[in-house]
Amino acid sequence: MAAVEMSPHPMEEYFSEQGVLSRMEGFEFRPQQLQIAMRVWDLLHSPIPGTLAIEAPTGIGKSFALLVPSLLWATENDRTVLLLTAGHALQGQLVNKDIPLLGEFLPRPFRFGTLKGRTNYLCLRRSAELEKGGFLAFGDEGATSVKILRWSRTTETGDLSELELPETHPVLERIAASREGCLGRFCPMKSECFLQKLTLQAQNWHLIVTNYHLFFSHLDGGRRPFPVHFDAVLCDEAHRIPEAARSSATRSASPERFRKILSANHLSDLNKAFRNLDLPAEKLAEGWQAAVRGVERVFGRLALLSREESVFRQPLTGLRQDLEGGVEVLAGELERFVSRTVGGEQQQEVAEGFAVASQLVEALEDLRWCLDVVDYPRWATWWDGNQIQSTPVLAGASVREALASMEDVPLVCTSATLTVGEEFRFWEKESGISPSETLVLDSPFDLPTQMSIWVIDLGQRVTDNGYDAKASRVIEKMCDANGGRTLVLCSSKRLMRAVSARLKAKEREYRLLCQGEAPKEELLEAFRSDETSVLVGSLSFREGIDIPGDGLTQVILDRIPFPHPEDPIVRARRDLEGKETFIQSTLPMSRLFLRQAFGRLIRRKTDAGRVVILDGRALQREDWGIFQDFPGVPVKRVRLVPTP
Ligand code: SF4
Repeated sequence: MAAVEMSPHPMEEYFSEQGVLSRMEGFEFRPQQLQIAMRVWDLLHSPIPGTLAIEAPTGIGKSFALLVPSLLWATENDRTVLLLTAGHALQGQLVNKDIPLLGEFLPRPFRFGTLKGRTNYLCLRRSAELEKGGFLAFGDEGATSVKILRWSRTTETGDLSELELPETHPVLERIAASREGCLGRFCPMKSECFLQKLTLQAQNWHLIVTNYHLFFSHLDGGRRPFPVHFDAVLCDEAHRIPEAARSSATRSASPERFRKILSANHLSDLNKAFRNLDLPAEKLAEGWQAAVRGVERVFGRLALLSREESVFRQPLTGLRQDLEGGVEVLAGELERFVSRTVGGEQQQEVAEGFAVASQLVEALEDLRWCLDVVDYPRWATWWDGNQIQSTPVLAGASVREALASMEDVPLVCTSATLTVGEEFRFWEKESGISPSETLVLDSPFDLPTQMSIWVIDLGQRVTDNGYDAKASRVIEKMCDANGGRTLVLCSSKRLMRAVSARLKAKEREYRLLCQGEAPKEELLEAFRSDETSVLVGSLSFREGIDIPGDGLTQVILDRIPFPHPEDPIVRARRDLEGKETFIQSTLPMSRLFLRQAFGRLIRRKTDAGRVVILDGRALQREDWGIFQDFPGVPVKRVRLVPTP
């Protein structure tokens, strides 16, 4: 019988040892990369749109494995693919480097670009106000305003990052194209508006690179659909989906937000708009002042709450009455105004008044939602000293609602950490995504020979007196013994301060870098470039650090990273799930955090090092399976010698 000849998979043409991409500088054949590319290709060409979840270790060229099949599919069928990432840094790297590079190797040209959130772009109408009666000064005699206005005449994108101003510069808030205050189709500058032009251009792209925050902020139950049609979605760092969806669904209200909306300028805008429509405005100023007082009363009372009283389970009826008493007259006036403006073509003055009214109505709705403590414990509501906020405890419902409107869109989710105990169940529950196919790829590293885990039992609980001092002492010893080259991930800011104070107390052979003493990017750059340095930070540093070689040979955690039991979301979740919550969410979440933290250590085949965890429970509580995700990695119990 003649042998059956299998035709090669289309992706082998690109990712095999002699494939098209082998001509790319630095290309290495990686079977895992080929495997991902084949599965993505198959999914996109399947007649039934499915959802593919892939757990793949870092360092195997995941981005190209997603991009090549997607771009080939999009250009062949004139489709649009949405690539979602977790942040602007990765968006920039893809759009400025990786995607243009791929363009040199693919057979057909393609159009692509990046979409960021609205506040990353210049609003031409608002920026014109920098010049009203002289240049607005920010302690610089108007130099920044002049710079911005000059730039606004030459920039092609209106992307505010081109200005290279510090992220917190007050001018950015005044000129950003935020949704609040945008006149939309009534804007006299709409034909030149950067945002509108960009959205129009994007309709024509094969690939749109954007971030989760923007994506989810548009998919709130289909009420404000994403501004560009798309045919497939690729999610990078998909472990971030639950948090991104939760943060987009969060509703909040702060004195600061109301102070900005209830400003004298806005009252004057509304007055003009009322006059323009021949509406009597006598009650407007009176209602405005009453609203200012009502809102102040509400936030004044919130500010008096103790920490324990600041997490809410019941509606805040008294505060709600205070609010309604204050805003009643104004709400009536706004209703009258809005009912006259809806639908028709507007003059600019009326449109400006309408924008103010909409902002105020939205802010009041958010404040009412929070004060009503809606749907506890599915939603957690609390006052954090600056704002009252309400957030869904399980983000999965919001994601499911969003995805329901894109049933026929293929979806690929990838991350280095999606599984717990080799199962996707936890991520599925948290993200609300039910994959039709899954793929778990092995690490390219030999972890059992490249790393070890040391467990040191401090014999104290984190709440015990003397915990910070003891933990700091042990961390100091471990850093000294390792000659620096250590990432210390602390469970509290208090411990972080104690560790850095201890390490600073005497001259060391290594440089000490501490979270909060410089911007994160600066700290990471210093940590990368100074091989023996020690970086002390909170658990948030468990991601985004990539230091191959001898620069990072030790990662220390002071405890298993369980979330704080008094965190409002954790408390609400306990009320929602009862004692099951530990097994269902707390433990798997901590195991994922550990995988992310441990993942900092081994970045190349030649790396070696150890993880140190100062929490005896990691070994005592075998039922927690803390180290199950690191099969074969040697675990060593280290006993402390009692100090005399
Ligand atoms: S349409 Fe909106 S964002 Fe664009 S210039 Fe006008 S007000 Fe600004």
